Amino acid sequence: MRPSKLPKPLAACNVCHALSNLHESLNHRCDKVVSGRRCYGTYKSAMTYLWDECESCEATGKVGPQTCSACGGFGWTMYG
Ligand SMILES: [Zn+2]
Ligand SMILES: [Zn+2]
Repeated sequence: MRPSKLPKPLAACNVCHALSNLHESLNHRCDKVVSGRRCYGTYKSAMTYLWDECESCEATGKVGPQTCSACGGFGWTMYG
């Protein structure tokens, strides 16, 4: 049985493009640390972004039993 495709991520940071599936992340400051500094971006609804299916895992978030490293297990990559 093939794994099913994941829904698109819920939220994405408008600066570093970190992804989140947590509702509580929406409109909150990004918590990723980039080059030793906390990202100054904000998680925005991912509905406003364009998405590509991850080529490595075909939007399933898994490659065999492993979490896909190309998309971090989200199954989607931001277009562009
Ligand atoms: Zn960020
Ligand atoms: Zn992937």
